[in-house]
Amino acid sequence: MRLYQEQSRLRDAQRALQRTNFCFGPNKKQELLRLIYEISRRDNISAQIILKKALEDNSFQSTKHVFAYLKDYFLKKRFPETYEYKKNFDVYLPKINLNSRYAVLKKEQGVYSPKAIFIEREIKDYGLTKSILTKFPHAQRILISCLKDHIKSNQSSSPISNYNLRTRNLFLINERFDFIKPCPCSQGVLGCGYYILNLGFGCIYECSYCFLQSYTNVNGIILPVNVENFLNRLELFIKDKRGPLRIGTGEFTDSLALDDITAYSCLLIDLFSRFKNATLELKTKSNKIKHILKLKHNRRTVVAWSLNPQQIIDNDEWRTSDLNERLEAARECCQAGYLVAFHFDPIIYSTNWEKLYRGLIDNLFKKINPKDIAWISLGTFRFMPQLKTIIEQRFPQSKILDKELILGFDRKLRYSLFQRVRIYKKMLSWIRRYSGSVLVYLCMEPKGVWKEVLGRTKF
Ligand code: SF4
Repeated sequence: MRLYQEQSRLRDAQRALQRTNFCFGPNKKQELLRLIYEISRRDNISAQIILKKALEDNSFQSTKHVFAYLKDYFLKKRFPETYEYKKNFDVYLPKINLNSRYAVLKKEQGVYSPKAIFIEREIKDYGLTKSILTKFPHAQRILISCLKDHIKSNQSSSPISNYNLRTRNLFLINERFDFIKPCPCSQGVLGCGYYILNLGFGCIYECSYCFLQSYTNVNGIILPVNVENFLNRLELFIKDKRGPLRIGTGEFTDSLALDDITAYSCLLIDLFSRFKNATLELKTKSNKIKHILKLKHNRRTVVAWSLNPQQIIDNDEWRTSDLNERLEAARECCQAGYLVAFHFDPIIYSTNWEKLYRGLIDNLFKKINPKDIAWISLGTFRFMPQLKTIIEQRFPQSKILDKELILGFDRKLRYSLFQRVRIYKKMLSWIRRYSGSVLVYLCMEPKGVWKEVLGRTKF
């Protein structure tokens, strides 16, 4: 229904622009059309009225200047706060493409049940392969020589179609190279020294903002079954490195969403319990923690939740656990002696963001004692530009793109610097009302922002 509304809004904008009788080249037309469409969508005003108002207010000297006038007029309307703050800023105005084939339907949390399981031949007899297969007795089983070759010959030409198929297909593989790597920071940001353990790729949840939508070329979820190799590499890595290490599995997947199938975390918690210089972080939006509560962890594992107000979970984090379920799971982990962590990331800016996030922080500290919190991160919504049209196509109802997102220092779409700093300072002040000492850091922000918000430039 919402997609239909958006398509009709787009047609209105096209017609309104045509009726002006100005003749613009394709690029100029595309830019104006997008600006009019986005204003119309955000303010729920017809494109005709927006254009009429623009031309009434006109101050252009002749039709030669009409494009420059209209673009500036619409930029001011579309990015009012940013425009007020600085006149020159880079925007991303791609072609609008609303295709009914790609829209995702909201479904409640369901049981994960792939239709087909692709198994690399050389790991078909591994223990984890067999254990995963018994969990899905009705799935079709297909032996493949290796995932890379399979991708070459079996992919759909549309990355969005691939992504939409991911929960149907499961790939069990033998990972050979990609075990541990430093967390990929944007150029120019201050890193937090995090490492990623590449145990699993793809996710069963549907967050409208998930970067994996524009990142993957595989139409399934990938689970390595050669866990022994991972554990060996990890052990060597931890022994080899000096100083405290933080290593997590939640970069390319949710750390616990599929743990009932893989039980990766049980092995990792055990391994980390034996080292003093390394901490494992399990990052999740689920409440699947029952199986880890009784494990021996020696406080070397931090269970972390990505948090957003329930309204944003309802609108943009489909199929994940509710806020209260996440907080209740965190409380149980604290009772079991684990340290916990929280990531306010992505923080979504909206007209009532202060009410929503202040309420969220109050809610968090009502349930969790600050002394059990290892760290809290703050990161505002940012993404590679190519994700924008994917979000529009997959989640036409989402309001997540309505605020002012401009091209930032790293060519990602971000809120303006002054907006981000304002958000971080407020979030920090709300956190500090409950704890003066809990470690707070910023994700994907440059040194200057760390300094201004946190007064330091180190994790
Ligand atoms: S939980 Fe994380 S990995 Fe999964 S869809 Fe949401 S953002 Fe992506």
